[in-house]
Amino acid sequence: MMRKMWKWGFVPMTLFAMLLLVFFKPQSPAHIIWVEIHDFSPGYGTDEMEALLLVLERHQIDRTIVFVIPNRDENEPIHENTDFVEYLQGLQERGVEVGAHGYSHSGFEFYKSSNEVETLVGKSLDAFSKADIYPRSFYPPRYLIKKEGLEVLSEHYDEVFLLNKLIIDKRTYLYPAYEFIPGMTPRVLKPIANYAYKKIYIRSTSPVFRVNIHLGDIDAETLKELDEFLTLADRYHMDTEDIQSLQNP
Ligand SMILES: [Zn+2]
Repeated sequence: MMRKMWKWGFVPMTLFAMLLLVFFKPQSPAHIIWVEIHDFSPGYGTDEMEALLLVLERHQIDRTIVFVIPNRDENEPIHENTDFVEYLQGLQERGVEVGAHGYSHSGFEFYKSSNEVETLVGKSLDAFSKADIYPRSFYPPRYLIKKEGLEVLSEHYDEVFLLNKLIIDKRTYLYPAYEFIPGMTPRVLKPIANYAYKKIYIRSTSPVFRVNIHLGDIDAETLKELDEFLTLADRYHMDTEDIQSLQNP
């Protein structure tokens, strides 16, 4: 319930940020699409994941990363669930990367001092290594991290993902991520969200278009909208030569 409430507050904020970007960013389409899937843990069935991957496979996605919670609520250690670990390993074989998404994902778990972050990173790495999985990327739960905590994460992971930027090999890249929210937005916000996605995709100055999807939001309607959105993205992805005519379809 808390998770849901937090999201509802987040929706208007995201839309506002998106609209700002729409109107103030110069035009130039991103050519690379990354899909970042949040919150995978043994508690989620693999059915949602498979349904999502089925949609992604129909499109030109350059990189798919599944951010896994290694011990959700300190209650679901991945290494104790052989089926889940085998599934993750199978994903990796299919070219889907596995990233770390915090440790227990409780509250603003990583919005802590560097010492506390160091301890949590240790626990997270430990849970993954017991499952014989070695994530090179990290996305903090709720996107929040202090500067001192970010420095700790950069020591342990090649890539740290945040909502507004990426840290790759300790260098910062301003590649904002976009929450895919149509399936969970109220009706009235839906057209605005869809419009913003299209415009941002067309206008983004970032060479990477990062789409964030939360596994808990996956249902038939969300998948249908995601499919439609990626179909639109495919057009721009392919027709980079002909940008001019596509900007005003
Ligand atoms: Zn999360």
